[in-house]
Amino acid sequence: MSATFKTLDELDLKNKRVLLRADLNVPVADGKVTDATRIERLVPTIREIVKHDGKAILLSHFGRPKGKVDPQFSLEQVCEAVANQTGHPVGFVATDWTDVSGAQAAIESAPAGSVLILENTRFHPGEEANDPELAARMASLGDVYINDAFSAAHRAHASTEALAHLLPAAAGLAMEAELEALEAGLGKPRKPVIAIVGGAKVSSKIDLLENLVAKVDGLVIGGGMANTFLHAQGYAIGKSLCEKDLAETARRIMDKAIDSGCAIILPIDAVVAWHFKADTPTRLYGVDAIDNDGMILDIGPSSIERILGAIDDANTVVWNGPMGAFEMNPFDAGTVAIAKHVAKRTHDGKLISVAGGGDTVSALAHAGVKDAFTYVSTAGGAFLEWMEGKPLPGVEALKK
Ligand code: AMP
Repeated sequence: MSATFKTLDELDLKNKRVLLRADLNVPVADGKVTDATRIERLVPTIREIVKHDGKAILLSHFGRPKGKVDPQFSLEQVCEAVANQTGHPVGFVATDWTDVSGAQAAIESAPAGSVLILENTRFHPGEEANDPELAARMASLGDVYINDAFSAAHRAHASTEALAHLLPAAAGLAMEAELEALEAGLGKPRKPVIAIVGGAKVSSKIDLLENLVAKVDGLVIGGGMANTFLHAQGYAIGKSLCEKDLAETARRIMDKAIDSGCAIILPIDAVVAWHFKADTPTRLYGVDAIDNDGMILDIGPSSIERILGAIDDANTVVWNGPMGAFEMNPFDAGTVAIAKHVAKRTHDGKLISVAGGGDTVSALAHAGVKDAFTYVSTAGGAFLEWMEGKPLPGVEALKK
């Protein structure tokens, strides 16, 4: 039960046809699912439907078939992985989404407690257009609707938005857990809260930084994007990745932080290399003395100490983006040290830690602490839009 959105326990599932918006957009190579994390997260909701003798009818997009039937993007290829994860046979229901009479008959004849996967919703252009007629055809296949695909909630598509208004609708268990974790991260966090933001560029995270400085007590900026801020403050940063045309934007964000009482923590020292590759010679510099020909590829040990201190002072940490070029040795050191410290403070009950975004998940996995945070979101775009403070259409549609 949640105060703002409907949850599974508020829906009557008994003998119902339950349309479950899932995210089955999983990586597949040679016809096999290579990472089943998203499927694993759906299992509790599917089990709950089956337990109540409902028919779990999964709806999802898969790849980018651009509104046309394209066998290469058929969801039939993920049925086996869903069956393996749920331990339950899975039936596939083909449809071109123009005529759903065949799908209706297939669902009708399936016994209570069946698990079925409908064909890729993006085989019809109405999906991405949030077309009410397509949503009505989808609604004709079910009695109730559950959305368990937070990672698709930033898109107002027929299966995530319009459909939710046509049937009794609720968040699935994975969506509920995600929304609760996010609420604890930025909605109503235990203060002080700090945000750690890294990654390559400022340009992809301007809205996110603007939203954060208004909300958090401290903002740690690392990774390539910190170079733009250092440049904006007048430091010479050699050949480091930098968006010089965004210096004014960086200054605006720093001014906004001062106005809202948010401390900005930038690197004070840096690991510099002369080639963008692994295991190349490096040297440590203060940010006021970077070599003209060098590139900043990680934060230095004094910066790490300072960030660890900020984490010790915080009750909540929200994290997106690595502190350096973590895919290459030894430029993972900053990211790994901070990830391990957040994990330890979380383990000790001192910290609520929420992280997300594609590269962040792989960085935390690389540090061996992916399961040691309070919550790690596997959603990419939806997590970033949430960090930007934007309403997510798929979540809004579930509100009471
Ligand atoms: P993003 O997708 O914006 O979170 O950026 C992640 C990417 O930023 C990773 O591939 C990192 O290797 C890269 N990155 C982080 N720090 C740096 C840096 N100092 N110089 C160049 N690339 C970096």
